[in-house]
Amino acid sequence: MKTIPPGSTIGIVGGGQLGRMLGVAAIQLGYRVHIFAPEKSGPAADIAIAWTQADYEDAAALSSFAESVDVITYEFENVPSEAVALLAGLGHVQPNARALGIAQERLAEKGFVAGLGGRTAPYASVTTRAELSEAVAQIGAPAILKTTRFGYDGKGQARLMDDAPATLDRAWADINGNPAVLEGFVRFDHEFSLILVRGHDGAIHFWDAPHNIHVDGILATSTAPAPAPILAQVDEARAIAAKVADALDYVGVLTLEFFAGEDGPIFNEMAPRVHNSGHWTIEGAVTSQFENHIRAVCGLPLGSTLLAAPAVSMENLIGAQADEWRRILSDESAHLHLYGKNEARPGRKMGHVTRLHFDHEALT
Ligand code: AMP
Repeated sequence: MKTIPPGSTIGIVGGGQLGRMLGVAAIQLGYRVHIFAPEKSGPAADIAIAWTQADYEDAAALSSFAESVDVITYEFENVPSEAVALLAGLGHVQPNARALGIAQERLAEKGFVAGLGGRTAPYASVTTRAELSEAVAQIGAPAILKTTRFGYDGKGQARLMDDAPATLDRAWADINGNPAVLEGFVRFDHEFSLILVRGHDGAIHFWDAPHNIHVDGILATSTAPAPAPILAQVDEARAIAAKVADALDYVGVLTLEFFAGEDGPIFNEMAPRVHNSGHWTIEGAVTSQFENHIRAVCGLPLGSTLLAAPAVSMENLIGAQADEWRRILSDESAHLHLYGKNEARPGRKMGHVTRLHFDHEALT
């Protein structure tokens, strides 16, 4: 792969907070950023020299975007595969279209990871109400019904606490009859993620695996190093994650989410991009996930992923929590990040706070 030197323009598909933080890292390295997004503006607008507002179906807009940039990456994985294929045909897109296609679809990603030896919750494809009955008969309740595409932050999901026909009717209505996967309910005490970066030469670096706590299906906190029950499973999880990244010939940051199950790590889902559970790496690691993603897609050497303090914690600011910025800043050790969103709707990610803990005992 040819190196994309500083001074070049990086095209980012998607204009949210991940694009904003990728852009800050790109700018620091001397690059320029051009965003492609269907929205008129967004958190990444503040760091971009150009913003193309167009639909993903707009082939002419995609073509001129590809022509005006030196490399293309994305911060949003639900880009239609036709748009990715078009961009890939016109220019250099990393992570590659195959990785994106697999990570977009829950059945494909589970099948792919299971095929490489990873453990998943028991699951079955559900495309009709009748198949939902069959899947529940096979897997049992409790279970979770998830749309195969476009789910995030617990959206596009319905929990089935029992197998009564009325419960199945409600779950099927909740996901609007979209193609789905029924997953057996995993018993776990902890959730964690693996954030890795793979360079164009195939070298893989992992950051410390954060312990993630979700509230109402949305990430609330990430903490590294993780507690002992997670640490005991990290090696096994990393082995499977490295196989996934190698098999996809992946370039860039890849995130895999796991449950720390009774018998080992259970793969939940993956994201072909930088991830909310890695935001702590901006101050909490020698090189952040954002910077290493830019380095990888531009063919530059990767930076160290080691922790920058004995322990690090990240807290998301959801909705009105971001209004507390004054109180947060009164804590001298808090690194406040606000994404520049105007409206603090409930459940909306408005920012995050990172703290480095030099007195690790105090955290654990
Ligand atoms: P997801 O969108 O797949 O990341 O799911 C959101 C959250 O729901 C996860 O972080 C878990 O806390 C919970 N969850 C998802 N799938 C399962 C499962 N099969 N068993 C138990 N909890 C789950």
